Amino acid sequence: MKTAAQYEESLRKLNLIVYLNGELVENPVDHPIIRPSMNSVKATYALAEEPEYEDLMTATSHLTGEKINRFCHLHQSTDDLVKKVKMQRLLGQKTAACFQRCVGMDAINAVDSVTFEMDRKLGTSYHQRFTKFLLKMQEEDWTVDGAMTDPKGDRSLTPSQQVDPDTYVHVVEKRQDGIVVRGAKAHQTGALNSHWILVMPTSTMRKEDADYAVSFAAPADAEGIFYVYGRQASDTRKLEDSEIDVGNKQFGGHEVLMVLDNVFIPWENVYMCGEYEFSGMLVERFAGYHRQSYGGCKVGVGDVLIGAAAVAADYNGTTKAAHIKDKLIEMVHLNETLYASGIACSAEGHKTASGTYLINLLLANVTKQNVTRFPYEISRLAEDIAGGLMVTMPSERDLRHPKIGKVVEKYFCGVSTVSTENRMRILRLIENMTLGTAAVSYRTESMHGAGSPQAQRIMISRQGNLDHKKELAKAIAGINEEPL
Ligand code: SF4
Ligand code: FE
Repeated sequence: MKTAAQYEESLRKLNLIVYLNGELVENPVDHPIIRPSMNSVKATYALAEEPEYEDLMTATSHLTGEKINRFCHLHQSTDDLVKKVKMQRLLGQKTAACFQRCVGMDAINAVDSVTFEMDRKLGTSYHQRFTKFLLKMQEEDWTVDGAMTDPKGDRSLTPSQQVDPDTYVHVVEKRQDGIVVRGAKAHQTGALNSHWILVMPTSTMRKEDADYAVSFAAPADAEGIFYVYGRQASDTRKLEDSEIDVGNKQFGGHEVLMVLDNVFIPWENVYMCGEYEFSGMLVERFAGYHRQSYGGCKVGVGDVLIGAAAVAADYNGTTKAAHIKDKLIEMVHLNETLYASGIACSAEGHKTASGTYLINLLLANVTKQNVTRFPYEISRLAEDIAGGLMVTMPSERDLRHPKIGKVVEKYFCGVSTVSTENRMRILRLIENMTLGTAAVSYRTESMHGAGSPQAQRIMISRQGNLDHKKELAKAIAGINEEPL
């Protein structure tokens, strides 16, 4: 396994082409806007080094019997699925941000079982190729960026009907030695902190869209790949060299547009090429795993936000108010409800044909559906408890100013035993998580990440088995439906 320091060094060796705010970035690792997101991924390596977290952060490879980082592991039991969620909650608690590495973990688990079943039905040999890649990933302890979401253009049109054929990633050329692909993946979490990318189709493809049913792995700095960095609210505060105003100085997450401009992929790294009948299964499984993931990561981030709200109440002197106590209880209740479904869809998982365990898809979709709602309510309650000062407070520079500083200290003091600076720190953290850079992952990503709410409702309607429920009701009601 890589140490945290080795991970950072390995990223420096990549030749990523990154545009941020209209400029080419020379050194993504040390760029002040990008670096906090690198720190979050680095935490997935650092925690794996600590004996205290060994059980959650590491696993035994089913391929080699070696100890590996759990992010490189294929789930071999429901216990592995449960530990995955617990690991994600832990990392959410430690970073209060998106630590990005789960998309690759979810992608390898989905690609593994789908290529196995595809080969069995179609006589292809994708699974063997994929296993070779997985072995290397485990040996090198790579961060792999699972890439699914295409830009999608006009949503009323299928991929091949789009005016611009590159709206969805597709195969533009098949050669003897490999394929050439073109298109883009949007909202790509953690791409700049990854060694490799693992691309999957974005939706169920039909026969006429077979060129879009494509899955492959490529080095993150392969020729023809470049990235355009996504802005986040208040991101330029990171350029001010302020510690308080950013809310969370150390950690963050990022999303980028990943452009694949005629990228050559050798056959050995191709895991689906035209087998459109299996595209839906791949999407369903990857999305299912990532919906499970949210029952861990968002809960961990929620723990920090609830803690921050409770500290703000202490500093405001409102802790004893009955309604504040009740709001904190409600926040905990909502957060633990998310965790409960994350654990439930894991405990109810089952073995697939390849041996890799899959979550219970109905419960994973219920988990994510709740995630589209509860973090919003938790955020609303945190803002309620924090008070309006969270958004009207002067800057850290004002606090440090030789003249104005005293004024800020005097008028923004809460309980007299706590410094104004500490009160500002906790309010800025809540601001960061509910309105600032981290609101990307705690709020809007809770809505749209791992699929927008309607995508889960479609899966819930498919998996909900309403007919069975009708039969139950008819049996209890003594209904006999013999023709009249
Ligand atoms: Fe992991 Fe959560 Fe970020 Fe997805 S949103 S990559 S599950 S931390
Ligand atoms: Fe996500």
